[in-house]
Amino acid sequence: MSENFEILEKELLSENQNGYEKITDETKKEIFAFCEGYKEFLNACKTERECTLWVESVAKNNGFKDFSDFDSLKPGDKFYVKNTDKSVFLGVMGKKAITEGTNIIAAHIDSPRLDTKPSPLFEDTEIAYFKTHYYGGIKKYQWLTIPLAIHGVVYKEDGEKVDIVIGEKESDPVFCISDILPHLGQTQMEKTAAKLIEGEKLNVILGSIPFGNEKTTSKVKLGVMKILNDMYGIKEQDFARADIEIVPAYKAKDVGLDRSLIGAYGHDDRVCAYTAFMALLTVNIPETTVICHLVDKEETGSSDSTGMQSTFLENMIARMCAKSIPDYNDICLRNALENSKCLSSDVSAAYDPNFAEAYEKNNSAYLNGGVALMKYSGARGKSGTSEASAEFVAEVTAMFKANDCAWQIAELGRVDGGGGGTVAQFLAVRGISVIDCGVPVLCMHAPYEIVSKFDVYMAYKAYKGFYN
Ligand code: MN
Ligand code: MN
Repeated sequence: MSENFEILEKELLSENQNGYEKITDETKKEIFAFCEGYKEFLNACKTERECTLWVESVAKNNGFKDFSDFDSLKPGDKFYVKNTDKSVFLGVMGKKAITEGTNIIAAHIDSPRLDTKPSPLFEDTEIAYFKTHYYGGIKKYQWLTIPLAIHGVVYKEDGEKVDIVIGEKESDPVFCISDILPHLGQTQMEKTAAKLIEGEKLNVILGSIPFGNEKTTSKVKLGVMKILNDMYGIKEQDFARADIEIVPAYKAKDVGLDRSLIGAYGHDDRVCAYTAFMALLTVNIPETTVICHLVDKEETGSSDSTGMQSTFLENMIARMCAKSIPDYNDICLRNALENSKCLSSDVSAAYDPNFAEAYEKNNSAYLNGGVALMKYSGARGKSGTSEASAEFVAEVTAMFKANDCAWQIAELGRVDGGGGGTVAQFLAVRGISVIDCGVPVLCMHAPYEIVSKFDVYMAYKAYKGFYN
C-alpha cells in the first residue's frame, strides 16, 4: 500500500506560513486600516504617562467611568482606575461572579529610554546639556546622533504641575547626543560595543548661546534655563520634582515598499497595550469579568508601586469583589485570583535573518507569522520565569482557532544566548494561569523597532477572542 505523502505531511507536520498567503485582500485592507490607528497612538503616546492619560480619555468616551463612581458593580459595568498617572487598570464586569475568575490582559506601557538625572542641567565648554540615566536595557551607542524629544512632568515649588513636550511638532527643535567623528575614533573603535559610549556620556545637547554679563558664571546654562522658564515658568531646582524622559523625536512610519511593516520608537510594549485596549473596547457584557491592566516599570523589573510586582492588581480585584459580592470576605479574592486567566501581552523577538546565529530556527517567532506565544521565557535553565501548562496552552490555542487568529509559538532566542523576562511570573505567583502572548519585534529595544502589521492585527484578534 502506498501512502499519499503530500496529504500525510499536511496532516502530521505543522506549517509555517507567511500570514499574507492565507488572507483575502479584504482582510489585508482591514489590517492596514487598523494599523493607521496604531501609528497615531504611537505618535501621541511616547511615555507611560501619555499612554495612561490617552487610555483614560478614550475609555471615558467609550462609556468607562472612574471606579470610585460605582457604589456597587453589576454585569456590563465598565470602569478604569489610574495608579498615579503611570499605570491604568480597566475592567468590564461579567455575568458570572468574579469569584469564578477574570480574564486579564497585562501589558506594559514603559519603554527603554533616557531619563534625566534629578539634577540634570550643566554646561561644559559653552554647550549646555542634560545629564541622563538610561532606563531599561539599551545598547547605549544606538542613542547617539539621532533626533531626540523631551517629554515629562515637572512640579513647581508651589505644587503646580507642568507638562513638557518639546521635539514632536514640526516647528519644534530636537535634541541630540554627539558621537566622535570616525577620523578621531580610533581608540573608540577598539572598544567593545558595551563600552563604546559610557553611561555618563549620554549627555543631551540643549543649547550654545551665552546669556548674561561678565559676572555670569554659566552663561549658556543660564540661557537655556531662561528659555525653559519663559516656556514653563520652571527653575533649575524644579528638576528634582520631575519625571523627564528623553525619547526619539521621529514618528511611526510604514517600512518597506509594500508597507507591510511599521517602524517606531517603543513598540515594546505599546503594541500589545494598544491592541489589548482596542480589544477591550469591543466588550459589551462578557460572560467572565475582563481586565486590561497597563503597567509601568516592566523594563526595570516591575519592582515599583506602578509595576506588576505591586499589590495594585490584587487590591483592585479585592475592591471589585467588595463592590459585587454582598457578603464579601477575603476568600472571595483568593478564589477570584486562582480562577483567573491572563495573557501576559508582551512582545517577543522576531527572527532576524541578518543575525540568524542568535536564534534557533524551529523555535523562533517570525514576522507575519501571527501573534506569538511564549510558553516560558527566562535565561539558562528557564531561570526566572513562569511556564504555561500544556492545559493552558491547549485552552488558549483552541480559542485562537475559534477566532480564526494566526498564531505561532517560540522561544526568545537560542538556549544560553541570553534571555529575558516579562510580567508573566508576577501574575503566576498570585495563582493566575498565565502565558506570554504578543507581537514579534525586530530590533527590540532599539530606538527604532519594527513590527509587522499582520501580527499587530492578529494580536488584536487574539485579545478580542480572549475577552469575548
Ligand atoms: Mn516588553
Ligand atoms: Mn522590553
